[in-house]
Amino acid sequence: MTRRFEGSQLLVATHNQGKLEEIADLLTPYSITISSNKDHGLPEPEETGTTFVENARIKAHAASQATGLPALADDSGIAIDALNGAPGVYTADWAETPSGRDFVVAMNKTHSLLDQKNGTEPHTARFCCTLVLAWPDGDDEVFEGTMEGQIVWPMRGDQGHGYDPIFQPNGYDQTFGEMDRWEKNKISHRADAFRKLIQIFDD
Ligand code: IMP
Repeated sequence: MTRRFEGSQLLVATHNQGKLEEIADLLTPYSITISSNKDHGLPEPEETGTTFVENARIKAHAASQATGLPALADDSGIAIDALNGAPGVYTADWAETPSGRDFVVAMNKTHSLLDQKNGTEPHTARFCCTLVLAWPDGDDEVFEGTMEGQIVWPMRGDQGHGYDPIFQPNGYDQTFGEMDRWEKNKISHRADAFRKLIQIFDD
């Protein structure tokens, strides 16, 4: 049975400001005080897993063990069918440059790989989100969400973060990068995983 959340403090175990803001928005209706890794001066653990759930577990347990608080971590990424599911767990890595993460670099790489494949459009893809809520006693709960869509080119929109400007969700003519953040937060992979998570907050 899923363990219920009965405390009032939750540590959101991320160093990613975009994710932190999205998660804070999604938790607004609940009376939960949120803190972040930065508030606790926690280092970013190495993500050595090969699946979203392994990496989310690493981040959630590291933060929970270091602080004694329940900690929620998100591991997410985009899986592109024509690239056999890449970049997947390596989504953030595609943005690495000698001067830090640059998602324009990652989106250009995605576009040129798809171009080389010369496959037919639409380039179907999905954003995936795995949330792990870790308890200080070492227990955890896993919640998974997805949003289906396609990769479009050129990039469109300056809202959101990461690969948002090249992802157009099914049923919409805007990319995540063009959508108002509240609109995106209603339909995203993270919202899907959150719908499952919040059942442990509700009575
Ligand atoms: P993580 O921090 O290792 O989970 O990296 C996941 C990466 O996936 C992020 O750095 C983003 O590039 C990408 N990503 C995950 N969710 C989204 C989203 O909602 N929009 C755009 N990019 C996302």
